[in-house]
Amino acid sequence: MQHVSVIGAGTMGRGIGLVCALSGLSVSIQDKYEKGIEDCKTYIEKQIKRSVERGKISSQEAAEKIENIDYHQVIEKAVSHSDLIIEAVPENMDLKIEIFKEIDRYAPQHSILATNTSTMSPTEISAQTGRPERCIALHFFNPVPKMKLIEVICGLETSDETVDLSFQFGELIGKECVKINEFPGFAVSRMNCLIGNEAMNMVMEGVGSVEDIDKAMNLGLNHPMGPLELADLVGLDTRLKNMEYLHRTLGEKYRPCPILTKYVKAGHLGKKTGRGFYYYT
Ligand code: NAD
Repeated sequence: MQHVSVIGAGTMGRGIGLVCALSGLSVSIQDKYEKGIEDCKTYIEKQIKRSVERGKISSQEAAEKIENIDYHQVIEKAVSHSDLIIEAVPENMDLKIEIFKEIDRYAPQHSILATNTSTMSPTEISAQTGRPERCIALHFFNPVPKMKLIEVICGLETSDETVDLSFQFGELIGKECVKINEFPGFAVSRMNCLIGNEAMNMVMEGVGSVEDIDKAMNLGLNHPMGPLELADLVGLDTRLKNMEYLHRTLGEKYRPCPILTKYVKAGHLGKKTGRGFYYYT
C-alpha cells in the first residue's frame, strides 16, 4: 500500500492524512470547500514542522513528507491512483453514499474504499458500489495522531482480503486494530455516546457543574478526558448526528439530550467554533 486518499479534510480527515504522510505514504486529500483544504494544509504543515522541532524527523524528511501530499477539490483527481480511499465527510448516510458512488467510479479496481463513520452501516454504504467486497469501515479516533485504535468494521460482503489489508495498513501507520462486526455504533461509539449523553442529561438535571461532572469521570474512573470535554472535541454537530442515528437504530435510550440539540441550533459546536460546554480562546 503506497498511496492513500482522504475525502473530507475536517477534524478527522486532516488527522488521518497527517498520520499517513508521517508514516511514509503518499497522500491525496480532497475537500469540497477551499477553506477546508486551506485549513487542512496549514494544520498538516504545522504538525510536520513540530515533528522536526521535537527531533522526530529531519527538516529534509519533513520537506519530503509535505511534498508527498497533494490537495484537491475534485474527487476524480484525488482518487485516480489510490490503493486505499478513506471517506471522512459529515455523518450523513445520503452524503456518504453519494461520495462512495463517485469514488467507485474513479478509483482503480484494486482500491479499498473505507468509511470513517462513527456509527453507520458500511453494508448500506458499500451496497451502492460495484465492489462491496472491497469496502469496509475504518473508524479512527480523535485526535488521530494520538489515539492508537482503529475499529475495523466488516460489512456483510467485506472480503477477508480487505480485512487483512486493513489490518496491515493499521500496522503500517502505527495503530492497533480490532475487528468488529457491523452493528449500529460498533463498539466504541455505542458505549461512548451513551456516557456523553448521560453526562449532558446530568448537567440539565442540575446533578453537577460541567467541570465537576468531567472531573468526576476523570479522577473517579481514570478517564483521560471528561465526557463533556470529549463531546466538545468531537464536535457537538457530529455527536448529535451520531445520537440521532443511534436513537433511530437502537432505540429510546439514545434519545439526544435537549441541551445537545440546543447548542447545535445555536452554532455552539464545541472546540472548533470556540464554544460548546466550555469556552475556547
Ligand atoms: P468535520 O465536520 O470536522 O469535517 C468534515 C469535512 O468534510 C469538512 O472539511 C467539510 O468541508 C467536508 N465535506 C463536506 N461535504 C463534503 C463533500 N461533499 N465532499 C468532500 N468533502 C466534504 O467532521 P469530522 O468530525 O471530521 O467527521 C467526519 C466523519 O468522521 C464523520 O462520519 C464522523 O462521524 C466521523 N468521526 C468523527 C470523530 C470526531 O471526533 N470528530 C471521531 C471518529 C469518527
